[in-house]
Amino acid sequence: MFAGRNAQRRGESTTHASFYKLETNTLEQPKTHSRLERITVYSAVFVLHIPKSILEQLQALAQSAKPLEIVGLLGGSELTRISTLIPLENNASDPTRRFEADRHSLVHGLKILRESRLELCALYHSHPNGPALPSKVDLENAQWDVPMLIVDAVTLTVRAWRLVDGSEVKLEVMS
Ligand SMILES: [Zn+2]
Repeated sequence: MFAGRNAQRRGESTTHASFYKLETNTLEQPKTHSRLERITVYSAVFVLHIPKSILEQLQALAQSAKPLEIVGLLGGSELTRISTLIPLENNASDPTRRFEADRHSLVHGLKILRESRLELCALYHSHPNGPALPSKVDLENAQWDVPMLIVDAVTLTVRAWRLVDGSEVKLEVMS
């Protein structure tokens, strides 16, 4: 299944370098779990745990950035326990409608995770006008095998998604 997806990726046009495509081609995800372990975990029903403080930080960032989209990394442990939020620069040509992580901030963010011995648990971005649902473009561009948190910057709803198949991931907020 993944061999097939990779083959498909190689055939894709690279004219618009998205957040995902950039990483797939040029960077390594920080990981202590193998790709197979990740796939096994993410294929099953699972819960992503997020501290209330990080959830509030995410909501505040999305709200203050309006009308622009925000983007970033969420690091933690055991693939599902988020403990760190790393904002990235949105370098998209139209950041009110798209996100594209700035390459330098992405490299730096991944380095921080590696050096902190944290794993990449999820990615996030915001929808300045809502909703907290993946857009067609989000689904088309999905290539990282980690969940994506989407913040609705109007209602401040945060939901998590596996963009590979469009299914929702349960988000448990820890106080
Ligand atoms: Zn989106």
